[in-house]
Amino acid sequence: MQLTLWTYEGPPHVGAMRVATAMKDVHYVLHAPQGDTYADLLFTMIERLPRRPPVTYTTFQARDLGSDTAELFKTAARDAFERFKPAAMLVGASCTAELIQDDPGGLARALELPIPVVALELPAYQRKENWGAAETFYQLVRTLAGPKVATPAVPRPTRAEGARPRCNLLGPTALGFRHRDDLREIRALVERMGIEINVTAPLDATPADIARLGDADFNVVLYPETASQAAHWLKRSFGQPFTRTIPIGAGATREFIAEVAQLAGIEAPALEDERSHAPWYARSVDSTYLTGKRVFVFGDATHAVAAARVASREMGFTVVGIGTYSREFAREIREAAALYGVEPLITDDYLEVEARVAELQPELVLGTQMERHIAKRLGVPCAVISAPVHVQDFPARHSPQMGFEGANVLFDTWVHPLMMGLEEHLIGMFRGDFEFHEDAAPSHLGGHVGTPAGVETPTLIEIVKEQAPAATAPEIVIDRHAEGPPAGITAMWAPDAEKELRKIPFFVRGKARRNTERYAQDHGVPVITIETLYDAKAHFSR
Ligand code: SF4
Repeated sequence: MQLTLWTYEGPPHVGAMRVATAMKDVHYVLHAPQGDTYADLLFTMIERLPRRPPVTYTTFQARDLGSDTAELFKTAARDAFERFKPAAMLVGASCTAELIQDDPGGLARALELPIPVVALELPAYQRKENWGAAETFYQLVRTLAGPKVATPAVPRPTRAEGARPRCNLLGPTALGFRHRDDLREIRALVERMGIEINVTAPLDATPADIARLGDADFNVVLYPETASQAAHWLKRSFGQPFTRTIPIGAGATREFIAEVAQLAGIEAPALEDERSHAPWYARSVDSTYLTGKRVFVFGDATHAVAAARVASREMGFTVVGIGTYSREFAREIREAAALYGVEPLITDDYLEVEARVAELQPELVLGTQMERHIAKRLGVPCAVISAPVHVQDFPARHSPQMGFEGANVLFDTWVHPLMMGLEEHLIGMFRGDFEFHEDAAPSHLGGHVGTPAGVETPTLIEIVKEQAPAATAPEIVIDRHAEGPPAGITAMWAPDAEKELRKIPFFVRGKARRNTERYAQDHGVPVITIETLYDAKAHFSR
């Protein structure tokens, strides 16, 4: 058992729904208890799709458990086939149905439907949403493209003279963070290179499209979380190489173009055009104050690694922490962390993420919807770079993350929550103005009054601690002072030291406070004076 309030990913059958909903002419029959239809809302409300997901639930109830739930499944599958006439069907179980072991795959086979039926084995108690999407896509590809695989394997025939190179774009799904717009952006980019798009999948693909995936020369993998399993199989089965570069950020997009050109056997064109504003914006003098801003990055591994690269190489930020909730992609995050000389954080426990943010005191958090809440509580500016996201991150306007336009979007989105240069400078010089003061939010964000000076917002961990009934309270080992004094023995701040602390610009003050407290603890100083403050400063800047 794990005490969980927030979860970064849903159960794996939600991943399967994301694949089914992305495609056309596919239907998913899901053995699930009454109530699991909540998942429809993810698509109709968060993504605001104007149609129901192509999913039939068996919606069994407690009283059904005494009778034949297997028969219930067969009836639902038969009815769904009659009503929706799909070209292929997915069948599987949700968490609760997994426990009653009705074997949807075997039951569907017994119906002898005249279409391909893909039985999904999604272990809901070990795996999660992205894994479920990857596995579903892989099983669909194997089932539908599999019959075209030559045995024994023969090498890929060379392209006919004068024929345009052809590729598939793999990975975008329903409910994917900016997948719709990324696909539009990358499709246009690849087409401008003179390359033909064979199939995009799962988004917009039919089962017939999946069956012709093998006709392309190579694959472009946009989201490894959902597509790398299928891409590996396509490589083994059809000899199709696939791209490794994720085109997020202007630099990565240029590398992506070079990689695609190499796989297509063509000269890499110079495609960056007048729409590519981000590199110049980042170099303009207005962005100088961004240099060295301390940023913490968290999300799915693909977006976190890409964001850290953009933050450090293109915006001049200093990456002080990086992490992911995708355990399957921990290696990628460890490699990136080594690049920036920071500790990787691999966890799906948001309390650990909050503790790390509180400890690192970054000036900007790039994360998911969860980090938005965490950053709000800790008073740190934040921008969203990865799922899980809420409705506002399925915007009406074109907002890719990938390609040159994506780089423009990233620049605007990440700089927006930061206080602008002039205001930051003036507040550093003239404190105590009734309107423009350090406890007010940046004035371009409305400037409402923030937490009163000197009062620390409690972290979620502290609130959980406070509210947990004493008798049943779990032992909480994470504490914002984990590396400082033992809980309850924080050194006192003398009033003049507190006043001196407030002279430090607000965006680095939190870090100064923590360092000083840590110094006081290490040196057995019970009361922090101005002298301690400067001793600590000297100590840590050595
Ligand atoms: S079956 Fe799974 S997804 Fe459905 S309500 Fe139960 S735990 Fe949630």
